[in-house]
Amino acid sequence: MSTITLNMQAVGDAIAAAADEARRPRDSVRLLAVSKTFGPDAVIEAAGAGQRAFGENYVQEGVDKVRAVAAALPAALTDLPLEWHFIGPIQSNKTRPIAEHFDWVHTVEREKIAQRLAEQRPDGRGLLNICLQVNISGEASKSGVAPADVAALARAVAALPKLRLRGLMAIPEPTEDFDAQRAAFAALRTLYDDLREQGFALDTLSMGMSADLRAAVLEGATIVRVGSAIFGARHTNKEPQ
Ligand SMILES: *Cc1c(COP(=O)(O)O)cnc(C)c1O
Repeated sequence: MSTITLNMQAVGDAIAAAADEARRPRDSVRLLAVSKTFGPDAVIEAAGAGQRAFGENYVQEGVDKVRAVAAALPAALTDLPLEWHFIGPIQSNKTRPIAEHFDWVHTVEREKIAQRLAEQRPDGRGLLNICLQVNISGEASKSGVAPADVAALARAVAALPKLRLRGLMAIPEPTEDFDAQRAAFAALRTLYDDLREQGFALDTLSMGMSADLRAAVLEGATIVRVGSAIFGARHTNKEPQ
């Protein structure tokens, strides 16, 4: 069996074990395979092992890959459509290709970006699923809306056409301290619970990566975004902010 297939099984097992530990249904956690820096062949291999949701960080690379994979995907794998998630930082002049080619955006942190995505979402493409990226690590991170401003941003995004606000996403400051990992994810979940209490119909907590997915699942992640544990180490210095 290929390395990617074996890695996918191991990650699936880790998610299942964490879900069991959390006494959550295993299918309440979805795996987003983060394919940034890896080529279309790696995506097709993972699709062959049953994976359907893929995450990309860079607009041009992502759009090229969406197209290349669509052109090369074997007919046997077209039973379920692939789902593409944009999970990288968004510049306002790069929103159009995201609105045109992706199904989800996890990294909305400003109303202006959401407005542009709504304006540029093509008719007939379905609603664009949105998560708000929250800065739960304070000054250690430049990305994400401040927790105090999440509700106002949620209100603005929920009012826009062509978008469907699904939930919250965070990339906490990396730490090997398990309790610190859990505390950061718990902070995001508390914000999520608050928004739901305020009436927002959210169903998605996008949190946890290769190194901290157990803590994330224990704190309620519904999507974990896993790259290196599936595809291997990335040979590049391009990393998310
Ligand atoms: C790269 C990336 C991931 C995956 O990280 P790994 O450590 O390789 O699992 C997840 N989320 C975001 C936002 C990323 O940029």
